[in-house]
Amino acid sequence: MNTSCNECGAGLAVPDDAIVGELVSCKDCSSEYEVAEISNGTALLKAAEKVGEDWGE
Ligand SMILES: [Zn+2]
Repeated sequence: MNTSCNECGAGLAVPDDAIVGELVSCKDCSSEYEVAEISNGTALLKAAEKVGEDWGE
């Protein structure tokens, strides 16, 4: 599925089997996003916080 970068507007490809919490990065501006929600085949992204700190819980 495709969505777009909030920062630069470039298209972002999200794997069709992506899950909530999956990280994607923009190849144009290198912004990192986390899949916040998937609805009707569309991934909603939120800006990724620092990666790798508190995983789990
Ligand atoms: Zn971008």
